[in-house]
Amino acid sequence: MDFKSLARPGVQHLAPYVPGKPEEELQRELGIERIIKLASNENPLGASPAVSGAMQNLWRDIARYPDGNGYKLKQSLARKHQVEPSQITLGNGSNDVLELVARAFVDTHYEVIFSQHAFAVYPIVTQAVGGKPVVVPARDYGHDLEAMADAVTERTRVIFVANPNNPTGTWNTRAAVEHFLSRVPEDVIVVLDEAYFEYVEEPDYPDGMTLLAQYPNLVVTRTFSKIFGLASLRIGYGVTSESITDVLNRVRQPFNVNAYAQAAALASLGDRDFVQRSQSTNRAGLEQIAKGLEEFGLDYIPSVGNFITFLVGNASQVYDALLHKGVIVRPVAGYDIRDGLRVTIGTAAENPMFLKSLKEALAGR
Ligand code: PMP
Repeated sequence: MDFKSLARPGVQHLAPYVPGKPEEELQRELGIERIIKLASNENPLGASPAVSGAMQNLWRDIARYPDGNGYKLKQSLARKHQVEPSQITLGNGSNDVLELVARAFVDTHYEVIFSQHAFAVYPIVTQAVGGKPVVVPARDYGHDLEAMADAVTERTRVIFVANPNNPTGTWNTRAAVEHFLSRVPEDVIVVLDEAYFEYVEEPDYPDGMTLLAQYPNLVVTRTFSKIFGLASLRIGYGVTSESITDVLNRVRQPFNVNAYAQAAALASLGDRDFVQRSQSTNRAGLEQIAKGLEEFGLDYIPSVGNFITFLVGNASQVYDALLHKGVIVRPVAGYDIRDGLRVTIGTAAENPMFLKSLKEALAGR
């Protein structure tokens, strides 16, 4: 029996999320020893050295459930963002928070708006609960916030806005975000996904946390997976009004964030140096890779994140050729960018290796 026919109609029409290829898998498949993985927007510097110390003795308590309320971490985050701990929801990755919003607020009667080329988890969490995805055409690959506000109907419950967006690296200014929020009705929840917040250095780029007081319908999500380098532990969070937090808490699994993740996140918040080092490594790497792509005559989407999507005529061939050279990037055809490949910014040593391999792949070598 094909059980797919029994799934919710929205689920039947979903394509599974395609993660970046794990290094070990490529090693197994092609027997390549030296691999650079630039496929999942991870921090190439790893995590703060403070993290390993913070996790060291935790194994003694692995028989115990973690703090389901994340007390210490929420205290620290509340200070950082000048909000109340009661406004914070911790998640098993920020994906978890995106899903909580959909599960708590959306059902088959409602529409969920997001942009063309937006992060793949928005359609997944929407369709998983039977919501109707409303995809608004992008403008120059970026979110067209005016068109997204225009798309609101009586049935709209949630709008997902990625700032910056993955895989495009495009972003919206403070003025544009504020104008957008002012146009959205107060009973429509706006999720401002700031997974790459710490990488963005543009002066007009807004900190969503500063808009929370004015907009109780705003949920700002952040993650420890990117600049903090804790992707493997799965931890992120959302900050919003107490009223929305209360709703999210009703559907949250009691122990959704494990003790290692909480301790590591807390320790990494204290290491400003590591964040700065990661920022400057990324800044230099973005320039290095953009320059290389220009030299090869390739178009790319200017990015403020820790990745760049570039356009090649034969993306899947180039992707395969790179794999055979031990370089893992990410095809973005699933994001409606057929000719695109997304490369995560690596270290100063990895970036030239990527460029060299790309040059060879383009030349058919
Ligand atoms: N939002 C965006 C835009 C992302 O690119 C990602 C990671 N790919 C996430 C959210 C989720 O990250 P995590 O669940 O690891 O916090």
